[in-house]
Amino acid sequence: MLKKVVIQGFKSFGEKTEITFEPSITGIVGPNGSGKSNVAEAIRWALGETKTKILRSERQQDVIFTGSQGRKPVGMAEVTLILDNSNKHFPLPYAEIAITRRFFRSGESEFYINKSPCRLKDIHELLVDTGLGKHGYAIIGQGQVDEILFSSPEEKRSYLEEAAGINRFRMRELEAKKK
Ligand code: ATP
Ligand code: MG
Repeated sequence: MLKKVVIQGFKSFGEKTEITFEPSITGIVGPNGSGKSNVAEAIRWALGETKTKILRSERQQDVIFTGSQGRKPVGMAEVTLILDNSNKHFPLPYAEIAITRRFFRSGESEFYINKSPCRLKDIHELLVDTGLGKHGYAIIGQGQVDEILFSSPEEKRSYLEEAAGINRFRMRELEAKKK
Protein backbone atom coordinates (compact mmCIF):
# COMPACT_ATOMS: atom_id res chain seq x y z
CA MET A 1 0.00 0.00 0.00
CA LEU A 2 2.88 2.38 0.78
CA LYS A 3 4.56 2.91 -2.58
CA LYS A 4 7.10 5.59 -1.90
CA VAL A 5 8.51 7.87 0.76
CA VAL A 6 10.12 11.17 -0.19
CA ILE A 7 12.24 12.70 2.56
CA GLN A 8 13.84 16.13 2.48
CA GLY A 9 15.40 17.88 5.43
CA PHE A 10 14.28 15.28 7.96
CA LYS A 11 17.00 14.07 10.38
CA SER A 12 19.95 12.69 8.40
CA PHE A 13 18.26 13.32 5.04
CA GLY A 14 19.60 16.75 4.07
CA GLU A 15 19.27 15.83 0.43
CA LYS A 16 15.96 14.90 -1.17
CA THR A 17 15.72 11.12 -0.92
CA GLU A 18 13.13 8.81 -2.46
CA ILE A 19 12.61 5.30 -1.17
CA THR A 20 10.39 3.04 -3.25
CA PHE A 21 8.63 0.06 -1.71
CA GLU A 22 7.80 -2.98 -3.79
CA PRO A 23 4.68 -5.07 -3.10
CA SER A 24 6.87 -7.74 -1.53
CA ILE A 25 9.18 -7.18 1.41
CA THR A 26 11.56 -4.22 1.36
CA GLY A 27 14.61 -4.33 3.55
CA ILE A 28 16.78 -1.35 4.40
CA VAL A 29 20.40 -2.16 5.06
CA GLY A 30 23.31 0.10 5.93
CA PRO A 31 26.01 0.71 8.50
CA ASN A 32 25.23 1.97 12.01
CA GLY A 33 24.10 5.55 12.01
CA SER A 34 23.38 5.61 8.29
CA GLY A 35 19.72 6.51 8.76
CA LYS A 36 17.76 3.24 8.67
CA SER A 37 15.74 4.03 11.77
CA ASN A 38 15.27 7.58 10.52
CA VAL A 39 13.30 6.20 7.55
CA ALA A 40 10.77 4.50 9.84
CA GLU A 41 10.63 7.65 11.96
CA ALA A 42 10.02 9.80 8.88
CA ILE A 43 6.98 7.65 8.04
CA ARG A 44 5.58 7.89 11.55
CA TRP A 45 6.31 11.59 11.68
CA ALA A 46 4.47 12.22 8.39
CA LEU A 47 1.48 10.50 9.98
CA GLY A 48 1.54 13.04 12.77
CA GLU A 49 3.72 11.42 15.41
CA THR A 50 4.90 14.04 17.87
CA LYS A 51 6.13 11.90 20.75
CA THR A 52 9.75 12.87 21.19
CA LYS A 53 10.54 9.47 22.75
CA ILE A 54 9.44 7.69 19.59
CA LEU A 55 11.23 10.22 17.43
CA ARG A 56 14.36 10.01 19.62
CA SER A 57 14.56 13.78 19.96
CA GLU A 58 14.17 16.38 22.68
CA ARG A 59 12.27 19.05 20.82
CA GLN A 60 10.03 18.95 17.74
CA GLN A 61 12.66 21.02 15.92
CA ASP A 62 15.28 18.29 16.35
CA VAL A 63 13.89 16.38 13.37
CA ILE A 64 15.06 19.13 11.02
CA PHE A 65 18.37 18.36 9.32
CA THR A 66 21.12 20.13 11.27
CA GLY A 67 23.77 19.79 8.60
CA SER A 68 26.57 17.36 7.99
CA GLN A 69 30.05 17.47 6.49
CA GLY A 70 29.80 19.78 3.52
CA ARG A 71 26.05 20.22 3.80
CA LYS A 72 24.31 23.19 5.36
CA PRO A 73 21.45 22.91 7.86
CA VAL A 74 17.98 23.49 6.42
CA GLY A 75 14.97 25.39 7.70
CA MET A 76 12.28 22.84 7.00
CA ALA A 77 11.68 19.10 7.21
CA GLU A 78 9.32 17.58 4.67
CA VAL A 79 8.15 13.99 4.27
CA THR A 80 5.70 12.75 1.65
CA LEU A 81 4.13 9.29 1.69
CA ILE A 82 2.76 7.99 -1.59
CA LEU A 83 0.01 5.45 -1.01
CA ASP A 84 -1.47 3.26 -3.68
CA ASN A 85 -5.17 3.84 -4.21
CA SER A 86 -5.69 1.90 -7.45
CA ASN A 87 -8.13 -0.37 -5.60
CA LYS A 88 -10.04 2.73 -4.31
CA HIS A 89 -9.39 1.69 -0.75
CA PHE A 90 -9.49 5.37 0.18
CA PRO A 91 -12.60 7.30 -0.79
CA LEU A 92 -10.72 9.73 -3.04
CA PRO A 93 -10.80 9.77 -6.84
CA TYR A 94 -7.04 9.36 -7.26
CA ALA A 95 -4.94 6.30 -8.07
CA GLU A 96 -2.27 7.59 -5.70
CA ILE A 97 -2.57 9.54 -2.50
CA ALA A 98 0.24 11.78 -1.35
CA ILE A 99 0.34 12.69 2.31
CA THR A 100 2.80 15.44 3.17
CA ARG A 101 3.94 16.92 6.44
CA ARG A 102 6.16 19.96 6.69
CA PHE A 103 7.70 21.44 9.77
CA PHE A 104 9.57 24.73 9.95
CA ARG A 105 12.15 25.89 12.48
CA SER A 106 9.68 28.58 13.51
CA GLY A 107 7.51 25.75 14.86
CA GLU A 108 4.87 25.89 12.12
CA SER A 109 3.44 22.64 10.77
CA GLU A 110 1.72 22.07 7.46
CA PHE A 111 -0.15 19.00 6.24
CA TYR A 112 -1.28 18.20 2.71
CA ILE A 113 -3.32 15.53 0.98
CA ASN A 114 -2.41 15.46 -2.71
CA LYS A 115 -0.85 18.90 -2.39
CA SER A 116 -3.98 20.50 -0.94
CA PRO A 117 -3.48 21.94 2.54
CA CYS A 118 -5.40 20.06 5.21
CA ARG A 119 -5.49 19.40 8.95
CA LEU A 120 -3.74 16.50 10.61
CA LYS A 121 -7.22 15.38 11.59
CA ASP A 122 -8.11 14.96 7.91
CA ILE A 123 -5.15 12.64 7.47
CA HIS A 124 -6.15 10.61 10.49
CA GLU A 125 -9.71 10.35 9.22
CA LEU A 126 -8.44 9.15 5.88
CA LEU A 127 -6.17 6.54 7.42
CA VAL A 128 -8.25 5.28 10.29
CA ASP A 129 -8.51 1.47 10.17
CA THR A 130 -5.84 1.13 7.52
CA GLY A 131 -3.24 0.24 10.11
CA LEU A 132 -1.36 3.39 9.16
CA GLY A 133 -3.39 5.56 11.50
CA LYS A 134 -2.44 7.25 14.72
CA HIS A 135 -2.26 4.02 16.70
CA GLY A 136 -1.54 1.93 13.63
CA TYR A 137 0.39 -1.29 13.97
CA ALA A 138 1.75 -1.20 10.40
CA ILE A 139 5.02 0.20 11.69
CA ILE A 140 6.20 -1.83 14.63
CA GLY A 141 9.09 -0.17 16.36
CA GLN A 142 11.72 -1.61 18.62
CA GLY A 143 10.11 -2.51 21.94
CA GLN A 144 6.57 -2.34 20.58
CA VAL A 145 6.10 -6.09 20.42
CA ASP A 146 6.57 -6.17 24.18
CA GLU A 147 4.31 -3.17 24.49
CA ILE A 148 1.49 -5.07 22.78
CA LEU A 149 2.16 -8.35 24.59
CA PHE A 150 2.21 -6.73 28.01
CA SER A 151 -0.56 -4.20 27.42
CA SER A 152 -3.78 -4.14 29.41
CA PRO A 153 -6.82 -6.06 28.12
CA GLU A 154 -8.40 -2.75 27.05
CA GLU A 155 -5.33 -1.79 25.05
CA LYS A 156 -5.15 -5.25 23.47
CA ARG A 157 -8.76 -4.86 22.46
CA SER A 158 -7.97 -1.51 20.86
CA TYR A 159 -5.16 -3.10 18.78
CA LEU A 160 -7.55 -5.85 17.67
CA GLU A 161 -10.25 -3.35 16.86
CA GLU A 162 -7.92 -1.33 14.70
CA ALA A 163 -6.95 -4.55 12.93
CA ALA A 164 -10.61 -5.43 12.46
CA GLY A 165 -11.41 -1.98 11.11
CA ILE A 166 -13.73 -0.91 13.88
CA ASN A 167 -12.04 2.32 14.91
CA ARG A 168 -13.69 4.21 12.07
CA PHE A 169 -17.03 3.68 13.75
CA ARG A 170 -15.64 4.41 17.18
CA MET A 171 -14.22 7.68 15.94
CA ARG A 172 -17.61 8.69 14.49
CA GLU A 173 -19.34 7.68 17.68
CA LEU A 174 -17.01 9.90 19.72
CA GLU A 175 -17.50 12.78 17.28
CA ALA A 176 -21.26 12.39 17.50
CA LYS A 177 -21.17 12.35 21.29
CA LYS A 178 -19.19 15.60 21.30
CA LYS A 179 -21.91 17.38 19.34
P1 ATP B 1 21.74 1.68 13.65
O1 ATP B 1 22.20 0.63 12.69
O2 ATP B 1 22.76 2.01 14.68
O3 ATP B 1 20.36 1.42 14.20
P2 ATP B 1 20.56 3.57 11.80
O4 ATP B 1 20.94 3.27 10.38
O5 ATP B 1 19.22 3.17 12.26
O6 ATP B 1 21.67 3.04 12.78
P3 ATP B 1 19.70 6.19 12.43
O7 ATP B 1 19.51 6.09 13.90
O8 ATP B 1 18.51 6.15 11.56
O9 ATP B 1 20.77 5.12 11.97
O10 ATP B 1 20.49 7.53 12.08
C1 ATP B 1 21.31 8.17 12.98
C2 ATP B 1 22.02 9.32 12.29
O11 ATP B 1 21.08 10.35 12.01
C3 ATP B 1 23.10 9.90 13.17
O12 ATP B 1 24.29 9.96 12.42
C4 ATP B 1 22.61 11.30 13.48
O13 ATP B 1 23.65 12.23 13.53
C5 ATP B 1 21.72 11.58 12.29
N1 ATP B 1 20.73 12.60 12.62
C6 ATP B 1 19.68 12.52 13.48
N2 ATP B 1 19.00 13.67 13.56
C7 ATP B 1 19.63 14.51 12.69
C8 ATP B 1 19.41 15.87 12.31
N3 ATP B 1 18.40 16.59 12.81
N4 ATP B 1 20.25 16.41 11.40
C9 ATP B 1 21.28 15.69 10.88
N5 ATP B 1 21.54 14.42 11.19
C10 ATP B 1 20.74 13.83 12.09
MG1 MG C 1 18.55 1.93 13.90
